Amino acid sequence: MILFTQKEEWEKLRESHFDNTASVGYVPTMGALHKGHASLLERAAKENEICVCSIFVNPTQFNQASDLDHYPRTLTQDLMIAEAAGCSAVYFPQVNDLYGENVESQPVDYGSLTNNLEGVNRPGHFAGVTTIVGLLFDAIRPDRAYFGEKDFQQLAIIREMTSRQGRAIDIIGCDLIRDADGLALSSRNVRLSPQGRQNALALSQTLKEMQERVQHSDPSLLEKWAGRHLEQQPGVELEYLEIVDSKTLESAKNWELPTRALVAAWVDGVRLIDNVALS
Ligand code: AMP
Repeated sequence: MILFTQKEEWEKLRESHFDNTASVGYVPTMGALHKGHASLLERAAKENEICVCSIFVNPTQFNQASDLDHYPRTLTQDLMIAEAAGCSAVYFPQVNDLYGENVESQPVDYGSLTNNLEGVNRPGHFAGVTTIVGLLFDAIRPDRAYFGEKDFQQLAIIREMTSRQGRAIDIIGCDLIRDADGLALSSRNVRLSPQGRQNALALSQTLKEMQERVQHSDPSLLEKWAGRHLEQQPGVELEYLEIVDSKTLESAKNWELPTRALVAAWVDGVRLIDNVALS
């Protein structure tokens, strides 16, 4: 596995080290890799001749300085996980290799896709995400790019961005990977205390219970029940819990089209997100 830090190196590697016509599967990450990331890398390695992973903690997508400062950084371990997952090359850039001198994001407005859920609660976040993913796509020029359903709204926005920008990249959505007890794997989980980790289980448990109640409720009643239920759980501070149309991310009115429940909550000062398909 090759480690490179500059876009120009990738251009050279593609011509000299790899076959220039080989298919490239790409997984953008912010590092602190876990089994969720590994599942994306394994799939990219299986479906392409070359699998590239980037590790870059993107400053413009953090709307809180303390979250950026505390984001875990574990490069040595990340390289081992990436290699074991079948990754061919890892791009580990400095901020200016991607942004140049202007570390700024471009605003983004894809209607309900960008303006609901995380869009309401993390101002500027998706502008940062679409800006960096655009810059990373320019640098890596993959055939396929792999994103987890863990960040369900992000996946929908990247699909929209890729299509609007006319990029010839297949965006592949990958299943959300959970720990055995149901907790959605996240790089931020390492910041939870043992008690916090226990409290955090309320998120996935509530979502599971929502799946079981779909038959007996309508979306707005189920949403209200689940919100109240989660608010009562110890150590959990709910930010939002919404049932939305899986394509438009607008509030779901019934169960006829595919719907999804998405939640964001704070536990131990750590912001966690999770989601499940309902219908
Ligand atoms: P991150 O490093 O958090 O920016 O995530 C990089 C990619 O890994 C994104 O496409 C995430 O959706 C995906 N990812 C993170 N956690 C999980 C998980 N538990 N299951 C599946 N994909 C995940």
